[in-house]
Amino acid sequence: MKSTADVVIIGGGIMGCSIAYHLTRKGIRNVVLLEKEAMLGTGATGRCSGGFRHQFSTEINIRLSQESVRMMQAFPEEVGEEITFHQDGYLFLLTEAGAWESFRRCAELQRRLGVPVELLGSEEILRLNPNLSLEGVLGATYCSKDGISDPLGILHGYAKRAREAGVEICMEAEVVEIERQGGTVSGVRTRAGRIAALVVINAAGPQAGLVGDMAGVEVPVRPTRRHVFVTHGFPGSPPDHLMVIDFPSTFYFHKEGDGVLMGMSDPSEPYSFVQSVDWTFLERLVPVAVHRYPVLAQAKVARSWAGLYEMSPDAHPILGEAPELPGFFIAAGFSGHGFQQGPVVGKLISELVADGRTSTMDISSLSLHRFRENRLVQEQQVV
Ligand SMILES: Cc1cc2nc3c(=O)[nH]c(=O)nc-3n(C[C@H](O)[C@H](O)[C@H](O)COP(=O)(O)OP(=O)(O)OC[C@H]3O[C@@H](n4cnc5c(N)ncnc54)[C@H](O)[C@@H]3O)c2cc1C
Repeated sequence: MKSTADVVIIGGGIMGCSIAYHLTRKGIRNVVLLEKEAMLGTGATGRCSGGFRHQFSTEINIRLSQESVRMMQAFPEEVGEEITFHQDGYLFLLTEAGAWESFRRCAELQRRLGVPVELLGSEEILRLNPNLSLEGVLGATYCSKDGISDPLGILHGYAKRAREAGVEICMEAEVVEIERQGGTVSGVRTRAGRIAALVVINAAGPQAGLVGDMAGVEVPVRPTRRHVFVTHGFPGSPPDHLMVIDFPSTFYFHKEGDGVLMGMSDPSEPYSFVQSVDWTFLERLVPVAVHRYPVLAQAKVARSWAGLYEMSPDAHPILGEAPELPGFFIAAGFSGHGFQQGPVVGKLISELVADGRTSTMDISSLSLHRFRENRLVQEQQVV
């Protein structure tokens, strides 16, 4: 491991790898990426559902998606690696008048920004998936440009190109201390040695709060467990990769192999780093799932895992340099949307580090300042 670098990145998830790659595109190659585990992508990135969508409630999240989806589409040309990319749409089913009204208002905002979102009634919904039960459904929003892509394919594509360009990627290199001198960052200490660096980037996913503490910077990111269940094939399994979300329950599914990948949030889940599977949660998910998608009654679960969402107080990312510690940058708090925001966030952070400002889009509203100044920007459409 090098003893000095221009930039140290903490975390080998999609954020760390995307940032590393984009720094090299900016000509910054003396970079070390430190990952505590033995492999890249074993954190939230390797446990996520792979969805991307433009259907958000705030302009900044919509703009982040627009650029990120463009980057995923262009990934084979720009990064030189093939990835899985299904643009079969996201369908949000709404059953409560207030939420339906709010989704309709958000659809207007999305359309104003150029996103082709449609409001659908029962017939159009059933054309997309005839096996859904629409009991209680008032309507749906649908965007054909949303879809499912390839978290680990994208992560490894970025990591491969970053390595070729000179980035040193160190595994089993847990950062245990962030060193400071004269009010700025001066380096990190890991279990494998020390590295001096004037720029340190916290891309530690659900652990970003702990890494913030090492720097004396409060990074309000809370980890919370989410389960994923994958079924074997069954009669009536979906023909394409449409993501269906029953918004009031947050139950969602999309095609995976011959069956489906499905999940649901659990409002009673406490903040914690626990990632073991609690099979009793499946007992609570099944009735909700079968109510909305009755053919699932014939499906058998093939496998399951759990991972951590990294919640920020307003469900928006925290991006930029910590005001109280020059040289300490944060890319965290993606609140369950970090896979799809990975490409664009890597680009934005590389612009901030290399140029001191972003040119792709203005992300000043996402800085850590907002918590101090009480300028929160609440995302409503969290699943
Ligand atoms: C079940 C589930 C479903 C999801 N579905 C979606 C989805 O459909 N679409 C979407 O966009 N997002 C989804 N997400 C969210 C998405 O997975 C995350 O937002 C994203 O992967 C965050 O990437 P990251 O690189 O910041 O974090 P991670 O992938 O967790 O990477 C952080 C890395 O930092 C390392 N690390 C931590 N502390 C240290 C340290 N001290 N020293 C060195 N290394 C350290 C960790 O080991 C880890 O590898 C889902 C998440 C879960 C759990």
